[in-house]
Amino acid sequence: MGIIEPATRLRPQTETSDPAETGVLTVDLSALSDNWRMMARLAGGAECGAVVKADAYGLGLAPVMRALLAAGCRTFFVANVVEGEAARAVAPDATIYVFDGLVPGAARRLIAADLLPALGSLVEIEEWASTGRKPKAAIHFDTGMNRFGIPIHEAAQAAERARQITPVLVMSHFVSSQMRDETRNERQIEAFLDARARFADIPASMSNSSGVFLPQRPHFDLIRPGYALYGGNPTPYAECPVRTVARLKARILSMREIEPGACVGYDAVWSAPKRTRIATIGVGYADGVPVGATACVGKSAGEALVGGVRCPFLGRVSMDYIVLDVSDAPREAAQRGEWVELLGEGICVEEAASRAGTIGYEILTRLGARFSRRYVGA
Ligand SMILES: *Cc1c(COP(=O)(O)O)cnc(C)c1O
Repeated sequence: MGIIEPATRLRPQTETSDPAETGVLTVDLSALSDNWRMMARLAGGAECGAVVKADAYGLGLAPVMRALLAAGCRTFFVANVVEGEAARAVAPDATIYVFDGLVPGAARRLIAADLLPALGSLVEIEEWASTGRKPKAAIHFDTGMNRFGIPIHEAAQAAERARQITPVLVMSHFVSSQMRDETRNERQIEAFLDARARFADIPASMSNSSGVFLPQRPHFDLIRPGYALYGGNPTPYAECPVRTVARLKARILSMREIEPGACVGYDAVWSAPKRTRIATIGVGYADGVPVGATACVGKSAGEALVGGVRCPFLGRVSMDYIVLDVSDAPREAAQRGEWVELLGEGICVEEAASRAGTIGYEILTRLGARFSRRYVGA
């Protein structure tokens, strides 16, 4: 039509077929399944379940559960009843535990969706028993978290009351299993063994992702990984043993060069020490990139990969946009319309977290709903 298209528009867009997209989260379901199979192997003779609370750590409950079911997972854990109902809709035959335990008045909903509460107090055992038919449940012991669970010194009473129900699991939760040499881990295992002794033939579960890697191998009968399945590193003291599952890419919307002294973004928290080539990308804190990844003078901040080169954030992360210093990036990659990587093989969840002053779990669970989601490897 006589209009000369910019070069970037003529290049094939491998990332997306929809030119309106400015951010894309890709969830690799084959990596997720591989991670589950790896954890299942590590579990040895124990069963490997999966924790899918918080919309499967932000990656999407239904597609994640379908992939895990196909890999062979039969036991799932969620935080609350509403999540449990959603999980039940995906997996009619699976065993589904609810960490919240028995919220007052919620018994009917639990029963209707065939969900098993992790009962965390003597009162909860009694209330659950009062629904009749010796209902099944997990019994949750507190070995140090002081958040949920029956204190170990009440284990005898718990065993007594549990005769009115059908306990199918005894469980506890680690405070700091990601610290391999923390002596608290050992003390928690000993306390759990005490409580468990009163439930002789009932399966036991203690290990989250990091717990599986502890030298004590506290796998018991069922392990409960979440984070590691989604690509988080359960062994921060060593190389990440699992595959990357979440990749976040954003599109460059605008390019410019700024002069020394020019500031970038809200409140002018960063200004250029020299002439700088900058790019504005189309994701921000409303998409789940923490404001904590903001770059002000003298503070390290978030980074993105532009044509394989690390490019730091400049100024404050805003709701819809982040500005990058692309001075060192290859020219062909640092152009309007091109894609940059915020999360993936090159920038793992832990790195993104530490650059934002948070933890990888928060990075995953905050991943927003605004950008497009792609599920690959199903
Ligand atoms: C979230 C949670 C898990 C899973 O922990 P990860 O560290 O994500 O593997 C296991 N057990 C309980 C009680 C939890 O709340």
